[in-house]
Amino acid sequence: MTLATVDRYDQEQVSAIGDRAVVVGGSMAGLCAARVLADGFDEVVIIERDSLPDEPVTHDGVPQSTHPHIMQEAGRATLEDFFPGFGEKLLSEGGLLIDGSTEVKSYDEGGFTANPESRLPMYSSSRALFEWVVRWHVTRIENVSLRDECQFSDYLLDNSETAVTGVAFRDEQGAETTLAADLVVDATGRTSRTPQWLEDHGYEAPPVDEVEVDLTYSTIQIERPPDDRRLFFDLPSSPRTRGSAFIPIEENRWEVIMSGVHGDAAPADKEKYVEFAESLPVDELGELVKSQSWVSDEIHQYPFPANRRQHYEQVDDFPDGLVVTGDAIASFNPIYGQGMAVAALDALLLHHCLADGGRANLAPRFFKRAAETIDTVWMLGVGADFDFPQTTGPKPFGTDLVNRYVARLTRQAHSDRVLSEVFARVLRLEQPPTTLFRPNVVWRVFLPSPQSSLTRYLTLARQRTSSTASISQSRSH
Ligand SMILES: Cc1cc2nc3c(=O)[nH]c(=O)nc-3n(C[C@H](O)[C@H](O)[C@H](O)COP(=O)(O)OP(=O)(O)OC[C@H]3O[C@@H](n4cnc5c(N)ncnc54)[C@H](O)[C@@H]3O)c2cc1C
Repeated sequence: MTLATVDRYDQEQVSAIGDRAVVVGGSMAGLCAARVLADGFDEVVIIERDSLPDEPVTHDGVPQSTHPHIMQEAGRATLEDFFPGFGEKLLSEGGLLIDGSTEVKSYDEGGFTANPESRLPMYSSSRALFEWVVRWHVTRIENVSLRDECQFSDYLLDNSETAVTGVAFRDEQGAETTLAADLVVDATGRTSRTPQWLEDHGYEAPPVDEVEVDLTYSTIQIERPPDDRRLFFDLPSSPRTRGSAFIPIEENRWEVIMSGVHGDAAPADKEKYVEFAESLPVDELGELVKSQSWVSDEIHQYPFPANRRQHYEQVDDFPDGLVVTGDAIASFNPIYGQGMAVAALDALLLHHCLADGGRANLAPRFFKRAAETIDTVWMLGVGADFDFPQTTGPKPFGTDLVNRYVARLTRQAHSDRVLSEVFARVLRLEQPPTTLFRPNVVWRVFLPSPQSSLTRYLTLARQRTSSTASISQSRSH
């Protein structure tokens, strides 16, 4: 499921569903869920363990917030629907609106992909700013309250142990307390304890898929000339285990990441960081980290061992009154930059499920629909991860064949702007991956590449024909 294959958000479709909903976790998935729940519940309370001031901050519960975050189109469009004015607020706080066609450079399969034909708008900012602009909007919704510095500890169950009826948590003063709710949403991210809780209470935990990539991110911030808005990325590509990216953010800075998969950890030492940048196949990054001033010498590191997916859609018996969303269902290799868009799409699907049947049988209906989005993103990301023979875990059916096709498509996209755009729209979760297999795309993928002798021959023949035609034309005048 992608943006093109789901109905957009329509607030009018949801009416009175319950008295109170509690969302556990106040990061991207929790905030987006709270937005759609506010349409059907009298009151929505977000319980978040970190302190969240009314300004952009990185926080411990989201350790990835010191690392670059790309917002894919499916996320941008859905957030704009949820929060009219989202983009204007982001830009007024220093975020950028860049053109994915002319200002983004992507290096893959030994070359840069051609500029897509159309403009591809995209927002660029720090993760802290993205999250705060969403939080700013959510906390201004009348029936939503955010209780930060509150640590969730348990779900409350009814006497028959078939329905969650609220949450237990340590409140702002450190006192153990409870809050009743008609619906609880777990948005606690990758460390969600719901699978364990289900087992502890006699339910079946969801089957888990883990695909190991042993990735490390190392991030710095450097100064950026105000008029230089370039965004660059170079993904690791087998057998090359190293990748990099720089993205423009507020305060005239770039965030720069060096990434290494399968143990080729990007360093946390300044000198080695520069050496790592110089070892990459393109000069852009090495030059930048040497020529631009570093905002600080601190290098943030983040280890990401594996993609993880909890198959809640396969669980037969799940308590009423509880739903899980965002990274708590699935967290993906971050180099493809899709988690925030998936969090927004999850909330959009929750909205549709509430509109279609309220709270009745909500969790199975929601998990089934969320699985469709995850299938797409999992196939794109995990599929690409299996390009490395070192990657371990359950390999989706047909991966090797698709990888060979996508590698060829990417090489063709070095010179074919149409292919470059078709592929970009899939990665932006705008269009489904099936668009890569449309006849007009397949045809271009299998055209001889510009470097091949057949293409050189055809080009030469075409040039000869046109010069002969122009000579005979000039003779006839
Ligand atoms: C290094 C890295 C880079 C990434 N880059 C990108 C990118 O470029 N683009 C992109 O779209 N995505 C990216 N992602 C993914 C993205 O960060 C997540 O998908 C997104 O934040 C959605 O996560 P979430 O809200 O489900 O969980 P999280 O962001 O992990 O938030 C969970 C929240 O729950 C709170 N919490 C946890 N336990 C409790 C508790 N017991 N009580 C109360 N609160 C609790 C935490 O404090 C936190 O606020 C990246 C991820 C990583 C690791």
